Amino acid sequence: MKISVVGTGYVGLVTGVALSHIGHKVTCVDIDQNKVEKMNKGISPIYEPGLEELMVKNINEGRLFFSANHREGFKDSKVIYIAVGTPEKADGSANLTFIEQVAKDIAVNIEENVIVVTKSTVPVGTNHYIKDIIEQHLIKNVKVEIVSNPEFLREGSSVYDTFNGDRIVVGADNTEAAQVIKEINEPFGIPVYVTDVQSAEMIKYASNAFLATKISFINEIGNICEKLGADIESVAYGMGLDKRIGSMFLNAGIGYGGSCFPKDTKALTQIASNIDHQFELLESVIKVNNNQQSLLIEKAKDRVGNLRGKKVALLGLSFKPNTDDMREAASIVISKRLLEEEAEVIAFDPIAVSNAKRIIGEGIQYTESLEEALQDSDFALIVTEWNQIKEINLQTYVDKMSTPLIFDGRNCYDLNEVEKYNLEYHSMGRRSVV
Ligand code: NAD
Repeated sequence: MKISVVGTGYVGLVTGVALSHIGHKVTCVDIDQNKVEKMNKGISPIYEPGLEELMVKNINEGRLFFSANHREGFKDSKVIYIAVGTPEKADGSANLTFIEQVAKDIAVNIEENVIVVTKSTVPVGTNHYIKDIIEQHLIKNVKVEIVSNPEFLREGSSVYDTFNGDRIVVGADNTEAAQVIKEINEPFGIPVYVTDVQSAEMIKYASNAFLATKISFINEIGNICEKLGADIESVAYGMGLDKRIGSMFLNAGIGYGGSCFPKDTKALTQIASNIDHQFELLESVIKVNNNQQSLLIEKAKDRVGNLRGKKVALLGLSFKPNTDDMREAASIVISKRLLEEEAEVIAFDPIAVSNAKRIIGEGIQYTESLEEALQDSDFALIVTEWNQIKEINLQTYVDKMSTPLIFDGRNCYDLNEVEKYNLEYHSMGRRSVV
């Protein structure tokens, strides 16, 4: 089947590549000419493990195309996926500007009946709003059906997730349209759950809000454990043995970031407040997370005192490992605080340095070498649990740093292992090693 995907970010490009890989003929459309030029040369504009190889393979096998022209991109397509951004507005609600523009782009460029499938995370009611916009702007006498198909991939493992997801959610008013989307996805072999459009839209927000709640919950338990002498790793393990709780998403740390949880939790509180419902639980989840990001700095200040002139190794910049995405990364808040405290910061990240330079700016130094970041530093802050950091020989801290003092926001190391080295180590929800 000929399919178009609009928007080639983390969701759109991975979706387009995966759909072409299972045999569909796919054209990915983006307004960003630079991105389209790169992709046409077989270069992925984003870092995702395995993505570029799969992209090149499908380009070479004649199933995957890129275009900056909507008319050309939509030609002969029976299905158009929308995967543009829905960023946060100043009041926390979802900004639908890109969605509205795509709806108009579809209306004026299609020449035959299409099913418009929205992968972007959008508030309940948006898929019907998209249909209204398209129908208002149509210039040809064609029929448009809408399907909500929210995306659950995780950045850093998005290719794997697309081929191994737990479920594909399809929300539709029209059973034939739902059937077409089911058939498109059949080769993935992932269970498809068909429901109504509004419920599909809500499943996405409710899922992200629930996962964010799990994170803030375990972080609060961790903060209490630390003061009472309990160990959060043991507590989380013991909790996770209960199948009703499950062991995933119980890692204490400095909180969630990224392009989804922060904006989607805020958007859901806004969606609720629009119908006069105060979502108090989710408001607390957001507040706990905001406090959590600064905890590492508070710990460092409690231990070191004034940070002025201190040489700080900031380890990890991206919001999580295996991605170059810096959106809402804890490193942004932490580096800002360090600069306010007049510390001298050298930051390490294996992939995200160029994105970080754009977002954090030139007030700090950057390196792709962990050893260089540690050299002569007064203390280290671990912000992202990259494998390079988790797998480092702990003696490197002792050898390179001026004072081997570590504040670990991601609990990268086993405490018994740390004790074998001449290190001072403070982590989250666990006893300190001094
Ligand atoms: P992104 O910002 O990385 O990419 C969006 C792309 O859309 C950009 O390349 C932009 O140039 C393009 N675009 C904007 N307007 C366009 C138009 N009119 N025509 C063609 N292209 C246009 O976004 P993303 O991170 O991939 O997220 C997309 C959506 O998926 C969001 O709603 C997000 O909440 C949701 N989502 C994201 C993730 C994730 O991990 N990133 C996971 C699940 C769901």
